[in-house]
Amino acid sequence: MAAALIIRGGVVVTATGRRTADVVISDGRIVAVGESPAVGENTRVIDAAGLLVLPGAVDVHTHTRVATDEQPDRFFQDSVAAAFGGTTTFLAFNNPGTGSEQTGSLPTDIAAWRRQTDSDSAVDYGLSLVLQPAHSHLAREIPMAIDAGVPTFKAFMVFDFALPAPAMEIALRATADFNGLLEVHGEDKQALEANIAALLAGGKTAARYHAASRPPYVEAAGTRTTIEMARAAGTPVYFVHVSCRAALDEIGRARAAGEPVFGETCPHFLVLDESRYDLADAECVKYVISPPLRTQADRDALWAALRDGTLDLIASDHVPDRAGVEKRLTGQAFPEISNGAPGIETLLAIVYSDGVQRGRVSVERMVDLLSTTPARLFGLNSKGSIEPGKDADVVLLDPQERRTITQQELHHTSDYTPYEGMAAAGIVRSVLVRGEFVIRDGRFVGRRGFGRFQERRLTWR
Ligand SMILES: [Zn+2]
Repeated sequence: MAAALIIRGGVVVTATGRRTADVVISDGRIVAVGESPAVGENTRVIDAAGLLVLPGAVDVHTHTRVATDEQPDRFFQDSVAAAFGGTTTFLAFNNPGTGSEQTGSLPTDIAAWRRQTDSDSAVDYGLSLVLQPAHSHLAREIPMAIDAGVPTFKAFMVFDFALPAPAMEIALRATADFNGLLEVHGEDKQALEANIAALLAGGKTAARYHAASRPPYVEAAGTRTTIEMARAAGTPVYFVHVSCRAALDEIGRARAAGEPVFGETCPHFLVLDESRYDLADAECVKYVISPPLRTQADRDALWAALRDGTLDLIASDHVPDRAGVEKRLTGQAFPEISNGAPGIETLLAIVYSDGVQRGRVSVERMVDLLSTTPARLFGLNSKGSIEPGKDADVVLLDPQERRTITQQELHHTSDYTPYEGMAAAGIVRSVLVRGEFVIRDGRFVGRRGFGRFQERRLTWR
């Protein structure tokens, strides 16, 4: 077989080990890892000496906005940002606020979203469907969505489009029966609404009271209720953006009992804390995220959970809101502030820098948390590892270089980064998707529409 491309002499990292090796790529796939075959005349050789050779990050949690007439480049530009950050595949949600068409039918939602994102992404991408009260045929349509290559669904317990408990039960049973996975935003709606009402009644409307309205017990209660429902339905369940020790305790108990309960956390919960809510309102809105930022003790508990396997992976929860537009304060009370913060471009940087360089997780565990497990759990079966047969989605990371994260050097469609001024170790030099350079020596060399929609199948169940 003629090798088209050889990545030579880098340290290849998998979830289980690292070694200096050559990666041989042909037709967009990895064909060998080890000694290079003889170099033919059509073979390109990339020198990776001194670099880490990582599988591209698989970010399973983004709220990337689709193209609209007013913002035709938002999906494309955030996909470019993903590439700069070392993410070679991302999954997006089609919730309200992302510009996605809301049709009330899951198959029609898939068709609409695929049309809205067609020929737009620079890296590979896929969809997780948001289930809403308007979806009145979940039992029939969830299997149809799974057949269409969209086997993961998200239910919110809070917000305008919260899924009521009876619909949640239907969704859990349908995902159990047809090999899907329900992702849950676990916060207890009644507890939250009571807290919000009490704060507003006391005149506490400022942005910082967002956090006060969502203490850890609100998240723990939502998590506990959902675990009980999943147990009754006999199905796996997945918790997005786990933020605190109280919720981890619920997940840990279920896992210790052998239940298929999965969880992710996000970079902002690992490196930021609740002190951000002491900032003036105009700054504070940048950290209005649900669940909110927690304490240092919670951060330590999350890192420990990533090490011991209580949590499965890290995803960005990227929301490309702009402080000056979507999150702008117009005198409204805190419940009206758009939730979320950008992070599609900083996922690998934060985890490498604060996790690996500070000795909190090994580089192998980082690869597992950012690539191998998200790919496996979300049915991206050709992704997530540097091994023969997988897509050649590869990041060349220079572990020696350092940088400072600033909005000015990022490429996402937000107008701020929550990590402004943070020192980061490691720089992404080059990124390949299916054997093609998307980033080369720090420059974007990809193209709009190169990214392929990923039809997914969950094969781990
Ligand atoms: Zn989210």
